[in-house]
Amino acid sequence: MAFSQTLDYAFFEGEIVPFGEAKVSIGTHALQYGTGAFAGIRGYLDADGETINIFRLPDHCARLLRSGKLLRAELPYTAEMVAETIVELTRRNAPTGDVYYRPFIYKSAVQLTPRLKGLDDELAIYMLPMGDYLDTTRGQRAIVSSWTRIADNAIPSRGKLTGAYINSALAKDEAEEKGADEAIMLDTDGKVAEGSGCNLFIVRDGVLITPPITNDILEGITRRTFLQFALDLGIPTEQRRIDRSELYIADEAFFCGTGVQLCPIATIDGRPIGAGGASPLGDHLRTTFYDTVRGRSDRYRAWLTPVSVRAAAGVRG
Ligand code: PMP
Repeated sequence: MAFSQTLDYAFFEGEIVPFGEAKVSIGTHALQYGTGAFAGIRGYLDADGETINIFRLPDHCARLLRSGKLLRAELPYTAEMVAETIVELTRRNAPTGDVYYRPFIYKSAVQLTPRLKGLDDELAIYMLPMGDYLDTTRGQRAIVSSWTRIADNAIPSRGKLTGAYINSALAKDEAEEKGADEAIMLDTDGKVAEGSGCNLFIVRDGVLITPPITNDILEGITRRTFLQFALDLGIPTEQRRIDRSELYIADEAFFCGTGVQLCPIATIDGRPIGAGGASPLGDHLRTTFYDTVRGRSDRYRAWLTPVSVRAAAGVRG
């Protein structure tokens, strides 16, 4: 699925400018060496039709700055300031449907040495309309990738570092070229890590299981969200290493992440998972998730940053 239509305004070099004016030099360090860190955040149109609920905005901003810290980025922004800028950009763009935010920190210096220290850093943010990233109307066909998930002491895997996504891209291409939708990557020990752009859960005998954050995975915010839902719903959880063969005998398996939200997995390496990809526990969690993000339930309202876009939409006509 392609999402190329961006919204009109972006944040670039300290100010909000038309998207087309947010441009960098071809010599930019981040472009040459992948020395950037990014976030992916969703804003959902509330059931009231005039509010964008940004999901877990402070958590995403905090992780962005922590990813930046891995790159030794020095920026004059706190997580609160990044969050405020995203709210301001939402008002300016006044979207009329669900959106995706792409904030990123990058080494803006024009510099040839592949180092991290002492280079200029910048923050930029743009937005685009976004519905489902994977087709959520059917279970996903997954393969176990022949590409190994990057080890934390090769490129820190817990942060969202731009260059590291070559690893994801290799795995995603392989999955699609083999007729599947998504890849499951194993770590250097052959244990299950995550998808190319999402975390992974399996269900065995009513227990929701996911690899621990020390298992070369991104510290996913959706993963954390579902673990909290499970805790509150009284569903037992385990954060432990998962063997490849457990994938094949799991009762359910699903991907989760800001982009994919919750996507049940129907097959892995051609083997049907559970009852043909049905994911009753996953469905339960997904219902809780959508009730939360659409503002239909109050229980997790603290995870939403509501931004009214009604007045702006009216002005824009
Ligand atoms: N793993 C990877 C490699 C990802 O790119 C993503 C998407 N950000 C995730 C997991 C899920 O993380 P989150 O729930 O924070 O979006």
